[in-house]
Amino acid sequence: MYDCIIIGSGIAGAAAARVLAEEQGKKVLLLEKKHHIGGNCYDGKDEYGILVHWYGPHIFHTGNEEVYEWLSRFTEWYAFGHEVVARVGDKLLPVPFNLNTLKMVYGEEKAAVLEKKLVDTFGFGARVPILKLREQQDQDLRAIADFVYENVFLRYTMKQWGQTPEEIDPAVTGRVPVVISYDNRYFGDKYQGMPLHGFTPMFEKMLDHPNIEVRTNTNAKDVLVISEDEGKVLLDGQEFAGTVIYTGPVDELFDCRFGRLPYRTLRFDFEHYDRPDYQGHSVVNYTVSEDYTRITEFKYLTGQKADSTTIVKEYPFAYTGAEGEIPYYAIMNEENNALYQKYADLAAKLPDFHLLGRLAEYKYYNIDAMAARAIALARSLV
Ligand code: UDP
Repeated sequence: MYDCIIIGSGIAGAAAARVLAEEQGKKVLLLEKKHHIGGNCYDGKDEYGILVHWYGPHIFHTGNEEVYEWLSRFTEWYAFGHEVVARVGDKLLPVPFNLNTLKMVYGEEKAAVLEKKLVDTFGFGARVPILKLREQQDQDLRAIADFVYENVFLRYTMKQWGQTPEEIDPAVTGRVPVVISYDNRYFGDKYQGMPLHGFTPMFEKMLDHPNIEVRTNTNAKDVLVISEDEGKVLLDGQEFAGTVIYTGPVDELFDCRFGRLPYRTLRFDFEHYDRPDYQGHSVVNYTVSEDYTRITEFKYLTGQKADSTTIVKEYPFAYTGAEGEIPYYAIMNEENNALYQKYADLAAKLPDFHLLGRLAEYKYYNIDAMAARAIALARSLV
């Protein structure tokens, strides 16, 4: 009855489902544990009519023309250049740290000298990871690096990961490099913005295809039996011989038999204010104070006009697997990656069984990279 079963309806599962259904003519069954589709991109209006992202801010950005075109079939865009500021003492500093930030910190005169040094060393427009900047021998460059490290990265990273910037995968802090230009935008990509009517309608359209059946409120564990020793998957008690794409946490697929894969989770505290503005910015990062990492004010992300406003504060924690907790970020390091590999090896024993996504691949994907990977995987499954 079905050619493919996909577990999880985030961007990985949804994009793969669409390609398999549409381009390959496959009958797809999409299983989703939650009551809604869209994974952590899920958004919708809160009780005050403000469009919010229920799992924290998601901003689409890409330099990948093909992905942009593909997603544009399912949504129009509210195009805007996302900007972030960091609350440092009484200042709101542009992040990523750039030449505007340099001026605010050092004043025009000193900044002009430092700017020349930065441009001479890295070139105008360069994007320099903080850990790379810290390796510089020049005293002035070292001083800038120390300032940025102390005021932008150290405490935010301690809150977010429970570890210092040196202890985590360098690619993580490399996502927010020091930018040698006057561009205050958080991302350097050509296309950036929001689905005009929200992410959820974009996902609804993506999954609206006669070959796709979506079952929400369905834990895959209740309908699928995975037997890697026999190399079999059973669906409702019957052997299933088609393609399976799994986008959930890979350790849970195998009952965490080698131990839990470590993840970071978040608690989101939403607050509503009966006034038009709370912070005047879409995102303020708290890089030196507070227990939360950042405050998002949704109307500035979505462009919504309203007399009142809703914000969310993010509090990071270690994921324990307790009921209701959601794993958001894989903590990639040598030890955890090795543990991941043990689970991936089990999955590899199953025929035509594919791990896809942040949780199943234990990776830090952005929306665009995830869509690209899902589309490529689905196209490869002929
Ligand atoms: N980061 C930081 N200070 C900031 C912004 C980011 O220390 O003001 C570090 C932190 O370790 C964070 C990483 O850079 O986890 C990546 O930031 P990004 O904004 O990409 O994280 P996401 O939005 O995916 O949570």
